Amino acid sequence: MWGMSETAQRLELRDRHGRVARDLRVSLTDRCSLRCTYCMPADGMEWLATADVLSDAEVVRLIRIAVERLGVEEVRFTGGEPLLRRSLEEIVAATAGLRTARGAAPATSLTTNGLGLSRRAPGLRAAGLDRVNISLDAIDPERYRTIARRDRVRDVIDGIDAAQAAGLAPVKVNTVLMRGVNEDQAVPLLRFALARGIQLRFIEQMPLGPRHTWDRRDFVSAPEILALLGAHFRLTAVARDSVAAPAALWRVEPADGLPGGTVGVIASVSRPFCAACDRTRLTADGQLRTCLFARTETDLRTPLRSGASDEEIALIWAEATWAKPAGHGIDDAGFVPPDRTMSAIGG
Ligand code: SAM
Ligand code: SF4
Repeated sequence: MWGMSETAQRLELRDRHGRVARDLRVSLTDRCSLRCTYCMPADGMEWLATADVLSDAEVVRLIRIAVERLGVEEVRFTGGEPLLRRSLEEIVAATAGLRTARGAAPATSLTTNGLGLSRRAPGLRAAGLDRVNISLDAIDPERYRTIARRDRVRDVIDGIDAAQAAGLAPVKVNTVLMRGVNEDQAVPLLRFALARGIQLRFIEQMPLGPRHTWDRRDFVSAPEILALLGAHFRLTAVARDSVAAPAALWRVEPADGLPGGTVGVIASVSRPFCAACDRTRLTADGQLRTCLFARTETDLRTPLRSGASDEEIALIWAEATWAKPAGHGIDDAGFVPPDRTMSAIGG
């Protein structure tokens, strides 16, 4: 029989396709301060009941189990909008204070729409947050308002500046391009990012928004994005330093008085990186998802609330991971998107 510490060291989040998850995405809320068209309907969202959402102590316990017992090395907070969680700083501090079995602190990061970040960036940095990804789909205020359904682009830019000033590094900006909506924003966004020394990353739109908002013929693919940028900038492919890194990186030569930099393109749909996926996900209501596109979830909240030990929860997590699907299956004939949309899963 293994002793408890030996068992803890031997468990990891391995699946039957040979992948090991070390990157935990934690959704802290399904609510949001924006209503981006590709992510949420304008109204009529059904929110999780407060009692169903994990408390701070519960979410920190699950993160601790993942880091101490299951080999997780990186924790990213997301949502919905994670800045709506008032205790985010405390959750970050508790996470940054954890140590893996090898004695290292987990890397911590945040994916946010940036609203309110200008006030909170210094506190988050002080709490131990390492990095931040900020979503920005247009630099033109009117275009931003059309997509996000809120007139807030100035707040996002202030948030980006505050994150840089606070020493959250690197700051990355994420953009989803949609045909006929914001393709013309690709070049201005890259100019904006180069001027600030920020890495911009384009993410292909995935079928995870409100029903009927995604069409294979309509999403702007990685080759199209590169063609749009290539018409204005000289781009050279950068060799990948990690197979699990989803973004293909391109070096951008200095132009128009702007410094050079790098730009990323995340081809989740046209060139899936599922074979190298190292992610595991927790929803705000304590459900484990092995894949963004999974149609099944594993309930960790019930065992958590009914007295299960850390070891028992770790075993449930590891066992569920074994069945992680090989890929998202968007190209399969019978593809059915998950019941929850991106904001409720945690992007
Ligand atoms: N509210 C935060 C934000 O917007 O960054 C965090 C949650 S959001 C769901 C995380 C990321 O998912 C954002 O960069 C957003 O643009 C992206 N996203 C949302 N719906 C998407 C979709 N259908 N396809 C691709 N990316 C999507
Ligand atoms: Fe909110 Fe982020 Fe979804 Fe936009 S992408 S609606 S900011 S969760």
